[in-house]
Amino acid sequence: MKELKTRSGVMKFPVFLPDGTRGIVRSVDSLDLEMCGIESIVVNTLHLSTKPGLTTVNGAGGIHNYMNFHHPVISDSGGFQVYSLITESKAGTIHKDGFTYKLEQDSDKKILTPEKCIQYQFKIGADIIYCLDYCTHPSAPDNIQEESVDLTIKWARRCKKEFETQLKLRKVKEDNRPLLFAVVQGGNNPDLRKKCALELLRIGFDGYGFGGWPIDDDGKLLDMVGYVAELIGTDYPKHALGIGKPENLVKAYIAGYEIFDCVIPTRDARHKRLYTFRDYERIQCIDDFEEGFYKYLYLQDDIHIKALKPIEEGCDCHTCKHFTRSYLHHLFRIGDTLAYRLATIHNLRFYTRLIDKLRSFDE
Ligand SMILES: [Zn+2]
Repeated sequence: MKELKTRSGVMKFPVFLPDGTRGIVRSVDSLDLEMCGIESIVVNTLHLSTKPGLTTVNGAGGIHNYMNFHHPVISDSGGFQVYSLITESKAGTIHKDGFTYKLEQDSDKKILTPEKCIQYQFKIGADIIYCLDYCTHPSAPDNIQEESVDLTIKWARRCKKEFETQLKLRKVKEDNRPLLFAVVQGGNNPDLRKKCALELLRIGFDGYGFGGWPIDDDGKLLDMVGYVAELIGTDYPKHALGIGKPENLVKAYIAGYEIFDCVIPTRDARHKRLYTFRDYERIQCIDDFEEGFYKYLYLQDDIHIKALKPIEEGCDCHTCKHFTRSYLHHLFRIGDTLAYRLATIHNLRFYTRLIDKLRSFDE
């Protein structure tokens, strides 16, 4: 697919979305995002439901007005968040009606059902909303993978029903409705992936996401990522959830995905790790994205103390156009928050320049 129509505008493919988990892509505002060429973002349903709370976001007229970001927004289901909570801090349980969880130690226990998940997302007002799914690690035993697929399919059915109820209740017209995506689970088991994909296709959604862990222990993309894209086919948009590092984004794009989101560029920026192309102009076709097409620049290194050049020669981002490595090194050293903003702007622009290249091959 080349593009997807949403009620907040056309989403051109491929597209990279930074994670604006709590209604903010950390360190930058919506105008910075536009300046970096960011055309769409992902927000986190569970976090927004806690802070600032759904009545606050809804009262502002939805997430676009609240953040002053008037482009397509995707909200995730909260499923991955709960999965992380449960596996990392045992702060929740999974049952046939959803999840029971505690987002913060001092907060009350809450229950996230498929119906609530859809109601929350309607209140947030995103353009693409997600069905609740049950995420697993590829190394989880077969019975857990089977349970995950079973519940993911059942919950998707309930989500679609609730989605249709909400559309009627809110009298949303067909051309102004959000799109509903479902997530294909199944771990590293091709039979379960197939079962999940085919059942979800039968129920019928506007798009599909690859759920679960997309990379192996060596950081390489699992074969399952490509397999799921094949199962879904070319009639629907496919979202490679949480992908990822630049080389994995390119591989997932080749495998058939169009939508990508990841915390990596913004998180790395705050940790002084910047992405630079070895030779941007030399990349003329997809095969030119060979190993090592980019390299890291570590801003804390002493080599940058007096370096009066930009992070990347030829990069057209706000940071590279106006500031030197030396200045950024200094800002990080004194711990000024401007360092986070400038570094984040560069890394986001690195990703949108990568996307620009991929789009240019399609023209
Ligand atoms: Zn730059």
